[in-house]
Order: sequence, then C-alpha cells, then structure tokens
Amino acid sequence: MTDTQSAAPPRKQRPPPKEAFIDGIEHVTPGVIRISCSGPELAQFATPKPGGHVKLFFPPPGVVWPSKDPASDIPRPPSRTYTPRNFDPAHNRLAIEFVRHGEGLASSWAERARIGDRVLIGGPGGGYVPPEDLRSIVIIADESAMPGAGMVLEAMPPGCAAQVICEIADTTEERALSPLVACQPLWLHRTNKTALPGALLEEAVRAMPSPSAETYWWVACEAASMRRIRDLLVAQHGVDRARLHVRGYWKFGEANHPDHDYGAD
Ligand SMILES: Cc1cc2nc3c(=O)[nH]c(=O)nc-3n(C[C@H](O)[C@H](O)[C@H](O)COP(=O)(O)OP(=O)(O)OC[C@H]3O[C@@H](n4cnc5c(N)ncnc54)[C@H](O)[C@@H]3O)c2cc1C
Repeated sequence: MTDTQSAAPPRKQRPPPKEAFIDGIEHVTPGVIRISCSGPELAQFATPKPGGHVKLFFPPPGVVWPSKDPASDIPRPPSRTYTPRNFDPAHNRLAIEFVRHGEGLASSWAERARIGDRVLIGGPGGGYVPPEDLRSIVIIADESAMPGAGMVLEAMPPGCAAQVICEIADTTEERALSPLVACQPLWLHRTNKTALPGALLEEAVRAMPSPSAETYWWVACEAASMRRIRDLLVAQHGVDRARLHVRGYWKFGEANHPDHDYGAD
C-alpha cells in the first residue's frame, strides 16, 4: 500500500461560523422566546429556504472558538439546529424562536440569554422547495416546527390552499404563524399531560377525511410521532410518498437528535 493509499481522507473543511450579538429578546408566548441577533458577519448570511436551518454553536465557558490560530486544535463545540425564522439583510439581523422545553443546551442558553451575548451561527442550509404544481398543502407541526411552518406558508404560490394543524400546550401558545400570510390553524391542546408528544397530531390525521391525491404534506415534529403520522398518511390515506416532506425535529428522551432526520427508516 502506498503512502497516498494509506493516508486518511482530508477532513471536510467547514466554513467558520458567523458571529453575531443579541440585540432583541421577546417572550412571544409563555413557551417561546424570540431572540434576535445582528452583526457585520451576517452580511454573508444567504437567504434561507423555507423550513431551512442554522446550527448554533455553544463553546464551553472560557473556551474561545473558533480560534484565530490556524494551528489550534480546539474541537468544534456542541451545536443545535434551529430555524432562521426571519432574516433582514438590510440590517444583518436574524431572528430565531426557541421553545422553552426545559433542560437542554440550547433551551437553557435561551433562558439565560442577555442583550449583547455572542451567538455563533453556521448555515443556513436545507429547506423545502415548494413543488411547481403545489396547489394544496397540509402542514402538521408542533411548537418546535411552527417557525418552519410559517416560512413554508410564506413560500406558497398564490392561490394555494393550506390547512395547518399545530399541537401546542394550551391556548396561551396560540399565535400567528406568519405576519404576512393569514391562516387559521387547527390548534390541538395537550390537556392530557401524560400523552406522548405528537399524539394529538396523530389523532387528527387518523380522523381526517381522505385527502385529495393532489395534496402535498409538510410534517415536522417529534421524531417518533413524525414516523407514525407518515405511516398513517401512507397506509390509511394512500398518500404518495413523493408528496410527503417529513422531518423529525427532536426526539423524546434524546439530546441532540440529528438534524437530517427525514424519516428514512
Ligand atoms: C430543521 C430543524 C429546525 C428546528 N427549528 C427549531 C426552532 O425554530 N425552534 C425550536 O425550538 N426548535 C427547533 N428545532 C428543534 C431543536 O433542534 C431541538 O428541540 C433541540 O433538541 C433543542 O436542543 P436543546 O439543547 O434545547 O435540547 P437537547 O439537549 O437536544 O435535549 C434535551 C432534552 O430535551 C428534550 N427536548 C428537545 N427538544 C424538545 C422540544 N421541542 N420539546 C420537548 N422536549 C424537547 C429532548 O428529548 C431531551 O430529553 C429544529 C430542529 C430541526 C431539525
């Protein structure tokens, strides 16, 4: 074996994160904090696709990352995936909405966030490209996917019919998904606090009359419930998988669920 053959493949060079600083914190509902940040490095931030994502990096306290020293071997810090809900290129300003779900690297960071705090942002990447023949869509989301759902609504072609179903804690979590597109979601309130996350979304899908074969579906919520909803849509309603865009946004009982869970299994 030659030296060239035995050499490890070169490490994928990822672009450095963009640095920004918090300039707005809004408690949108009891369960959601909207954090805005801005800074000159966001001039390089590309327009996110609907339902796209960013990675937020959380270096441990005292660790300066990324290092200015090219020889530094400080490892990439842990990250979490969020929706770039609104990007204002005129002011290099990005807004992200955090579900206050309790203990979690990102959720706890958002609880403690203060004006002026540094934010490290990778991306944007991913996202949903609305099909050319999109005339009717059903959007199924929990709180974590409401920012993405709002972006998808804003990307619909004129005249497209949208039905939106959201599972939330209670009436205090009801809010407009978009300031630009009028829509009246079916709100499902978690009155049974011991039910699995997404159980109400599943029930709603089970109870639906059979949809038109022309309908597209955008489903984003807890990973296991996303799979059950996907299976219901295919088995009970005969939905063509090509019309389904499904994504597990988080997994019950598991930290740092992968950001590319498109329900392949
Ligand atoms: C494409 C994409 C876009 C996303 N956009 C958003 C967004 O805009 N806003 C948003 O809030 N989330 C969003 N998420 C979900 C977010 O990435 C996860 O909720 C993530 O786990 C949060 O990280 P954490 O550090 O707070 O919790 P983790 O450390 O990952 O998890 C700690 C514990 O909290 C639980 N947990 C995690 N998230 C939730 C939740 N939402 N509800 C209840 N329990 C939870 C886990 O099961 C685990 O037990 C998105 C995910 C993807 C893939």
